[in-house]
Amino acid sequence: MNKLSNRINKYLKNKNLPDKFGHFAEFGGRFVPETLIFALDELEKEYNKVKKDKKFIAELNYYLTEYAGRPTPLYLAKKLSANLGIGKIYLKREDLLHTGAHKINNTLGQALLAVRMKKPRVIAETGAGQHGVATATVAALFGLKCDIYMGSEDMLRQEPNVFRMRLLGARVIPVKSGSKTLKDAMTQALRDWVTNVVDTHYIIGTVAGPHPYPMLVRDFQSVIGKEVKKQILKNDRALPDYLVACVGGGSNAMGLFYPFFADKRVKFIGVEAGGRSFSQGEHAATLVKGDIGVLHGSKSGLLEDRFGQINATHSISAGLDYPGVGPEHAYYKKIKRAQYVSVNDLEALAGFRLLSELEGIIPALESAHAIAYLKRLGKKINRNSRVVVCLSGRGDKDLGIVTKRLKI
Ligand SMILES: *Cc1c(COP(=O)(O)O)cnc(C)c1O
Repeated sequence: MNKLSNRINKYLKNKNLPDKFGHFAEFGGRFVPETLIFALDELEKEYNKVKKDKKFIAELNYYLTEYAGRPTPLYLAKKLSANLGIGKIYLKREDLLHTGAHKINNTLGQALLAVRMKKPRVIAETGAGQHGVATATVAALFGLKCDIYMGSEDMLRQEPNVFRMRLLGARVIPVKSGSKTLKDAMTQALRDWVTNVVDTHYIIGTVAGPHPYPMLVRDFQSVIGKEVKKQILKNDRALPDYLVACVGGGSNAMGLFYPFFADKRVKFIGVEAGGRSFSQGEHAATLVKGDIGVLHGSKSGLLEDRFGQINATHSISAGLDYPGVGPEHAYYKKIKRAQYVSVNDLEALAGFRLLSELEGIIPALESAHAIAYLKRLGKKINRNSRVVVCLSGRGDKDLGIVTKRLKI
């Protein structure tokens, strides 16, 4: 613990990361074509301005509360706590937000930024379609033209979300290259941005990509952790012992963790997708099983083979099915500020069922990974512990997949 304190003290003295080049120690940065540097600089400059602009903050707050439904409850899950032998398990109910997940926190912020920068068009990548829907939603709200890149494989698997995006007025562009999934969609979106930077803002959906995205998305999602802090101090007059969240790219986890960074006694646990097995291509546990490399403009944890080719990934939850991870998570792992674990498909299904049966809350399969890990955590920790879990989204979107897998 003392060693951890020292490391955190050193970090705090080292000013807030990322540094001005977007580095979290050796992670992060900007590995992009020269043509994008101008757009990234412009975005960073504008963001640094609005961050301190009372009018922008008030406007974002207005939409977060009146449109998206913040603040979300911090719900004490009594039956789940008793069942798992953990003192108090609190659920941060991001599943109750408009569009059903935490993604709207970030898309509202970035869409308002696009309006500030006078960019009439936004683009985004999407895997399961959740970020695409959240982007199409804010584009409709603010009258922006919207193109969403989506792997053609994913379009087949997530047809209702394709329809939702189109209904919201967005164009969904199928990506037929590579594995025809999220990673290829992000590559295409970056390519579009290079040619259309003058009138287009690229809304990245997680804490990945080139600087300033990991910082910007973290800040917009930090509303999660800030609310949790207020709520738990009011309820218990104490901070939580553990924060638990699933990690795809890492935005809901970073949003929960970041405001607690300096609270040394609060432990962070990020839960990655263990998939079917740890064989190559069968999981998406980037920090647990991967090494370090460059993908989509930043250096971070990466699943790649020994020739540097990006691995295929698998997870039962499309939102966790990504071979990269945000650079700040790679940094938290390095300094041991957070611990990263993985939960496999079957455990996640059991978690999905457990929360539904005990609390009447059907979680997203992504969030079910965080719930499932509590079973293991409960066996290791003090019985009076206070645990906060980020319930990143609701499970309606996953009923098709789960129906095929669970016998009820
Ligand atoms: C997209 C998504 C995730 C994974 O993204 P992060 O950036 O890791 O948060 C998790 N849960 C839900 C419900 C999602 O839609």
